[in-house]
This record gives sequence, structure tokens and C-alpha cells, in this order.
Amino acid sequence: MAVLFPRVALIGVGLIGSSLCHAIRRGGLAGHIAATARSERTRAKAVELGLVDSMHPDAGTAAAGADLVVICTPIGTYAEIGAAIRARLKPGAILTDVGSVKQAAVRDLGPLVPEGVHFVPGHPVAGTEHSGPEAGFAELFDGRWCILTPPPGTDQGAVDRLAEFWRRCGSQVEIMEPAHHDIVLAITSHLPHLIAYTIVGTATDLEDATRKEVVKFSAGGFRDFTRIAASDPVMWRDIFLNNREAVLEILGRFTEDLTALQRAIRWGEGDKLEDWFIRTRAIRRGIIDAKQA
Ligand code: NAP
Repeated sequence: MAVLFPRVALIGVGLIGSSLCHAIRRGGLAGHIAATARSERTRAKAVELGLVDSMHPDAGTAAAGADLVVICTPIGTYAEIGAAIRARLKPGAILTDVGSVKQAAVRDLGPLVPEGVHFVPGHPVAGTEHSGPEAGFAELFDGRWCILTPPPGTDQGAVDRLAEFWRRCGSQVEIMEPAHHDIVLAITSHLPHLIAYTIVGTATDLEDATRKEVVKFSAGGFRDFTRIAASDPVMWRDIFLNNREAVLEILGRFTEDLTALQRAIRWGEGDKLEDWFIRTRAIRRGIIDAKQA
């Protein structure tokens, strides 16, 4: 199949950037993959792994002349990266990102996009708890959703080309409003991570003897939380700081429900607990049926 973009530039080659390198190669989607990362270590590792065709010392040089530029760094870096690449973006190029919060991407990058460049923010809803250029693999996006949030008035041809790119990386594509994306992800991803970070943190604070038992008997459920709570600290700091309102809204509702369950336990209201657990079991079945398990 013909390449979709003669030159793709990736700013950041961590889990998502390196997985994109593998998926782009697998699908023959680009003629050339240019990239950059913050540290010399990551840049050298990406070259050693054969992930890229050219590695650049900074974002501006990597983005120069690219037909598709994908920002694959934590959200807190967007304003700085936008400022570094804006003068180097080729007219007609598509600028996108993979960040987990979309209103912040529009806020920080939108005003910096030059006339003639198509800005189409994106978010592949796929990931693992691992980071860095060694963590990537071609199948990460297979069967997962990629959400695109093009601002009103975006060139439809550019949206279609980016959607085709993600489909050929293995994803299914959905178009959404940034604010809707942020509230949906607050409940499906951000709150679960916050809960995992809380539970694992609470366990860490227990006295020594109990903490040892927690590790020994972790298969009882705790283990699954530790996997989620091992996710990248900087990335997750930036997600909570940049999706503050949606997370606080969902957290408020969660706290009310938790208090209701706490009450049911205190007053021995078994029926209430059982009803609740029957309802939640149905959600699990829905996820399995949707092949997102
Ligand atoms: P990661 O593995 O930690 O990789 C981040 C990459 O960005 C690294 O290559 C890092 O370089 C580079 N970087 C950081 N600051 C930079 C800067 N100022 N200039 C240039 N490069 C810089 O992170 P990730 O998991 O791939 O996440 C990247 C983005 O994807 C985040 O916005 C996140 O919200 C989104 N996302 C993540 C997941 C997930 O599950 N992990 C899923 C969907 C979307 P160094 O290694 O040199 O620091």
C-alpha cells in the first residue's frame, strides 16, 4: 500500500511514540520517520532500536519539513514544544498529539498553530504502565479507539487523512468534542488511576508487618491496583493538573457513592450492596462484549 505521509515527525519516543514507530513501519505508513526526545539517552536508545530514520537534537529540527507532526510528550510540555516548532511547520502539514486531555491540548497548542497548518488533536485510548522507547510495540493500538477532537472549521481532508493513519495503525476512530472527551476519560481512566494511586499509597503507609503481608497476599485484588499505580508519575501529574475540573466533578460523584456504600456496610444493608454489585457486573460483561477487555 502507498505511504500516507512522506515524512512523519514524532516529538517524544516513549511508550506511545515508540509504539507509533513500530505501527508506522508495520503498515508502511511513512517514507521517513524523524524524531526527537528530551534526553540524549532516549535519543540514542531510539536510534539503537532502529525505531527512526533520523534523530534530531530538538523539536524544531525534527518537525521541519514533516507532513505529519505527532506530539508524544506529557501535556505539561505542549506550550514549550508548540513555541519551538511553530516556525518550522510546513504549510499543509497536519499537527496532532496523543495526549490524554484534549481541552488542554487545544488551549496550549491551538493559538500557536500557523495559518495553513491543520491542527487535529488526538488521543489513542491504549496504553500500558511502562514508559520509554523500549516499552513500545506495534500491536498497542490494535482494536483500540483513537479519539480525534478537531476544532470547528478544520479541513475535512486533513481529519480524514489522520483518521486513515490511525486506522492503519490498527485503531478504530471516533470524533468528539474536547470537553466531552475529557469528562468521559475522567471516569474511564483518570478516576481509576487516582483510586489506584490512593490505595497503593495507603498500603505503603501501613506499619511494617502489615505491609509485608500486603505484598504476600496481593493476589486478592491489590496486585491489579499496583499495576495501574506504577504508571508514569510525570504523565499522570500533568493529566490531573490539566483535567482538573472534569476529574473533580467525577470525584465528587464517586465520593457520594462511596459514602453510600460505607453506610450500607455500617447498617448491614446487604440488599443494597448486592444490588450495587449486580449492576456493576453487567458493565464488565458489556466491556467483554465490546472486545475492550
Ligand atoms: P513516556 O513513555 O514517558 O515518553 C515521553 C517522551 O516524551 C519521552 O521520549 C521523553 O523524552 C519525551 N519528552 C518529555 N519532555 C520532552 C520535551 N520537553 N521535549 C521533547 N521530548 C520530551 O510517555 P508516554 O506514555 O509515551 O506518554 C506520552 C503522551 O501520551 C502523554 O501526553 C500521555 O498523556 C499520552 N498517552 C499515554 C498513554 C499511556 O498509557 N502511557 C496512553 C495514551 C496517551 P525523555 O525520555 O528523554 O525524557
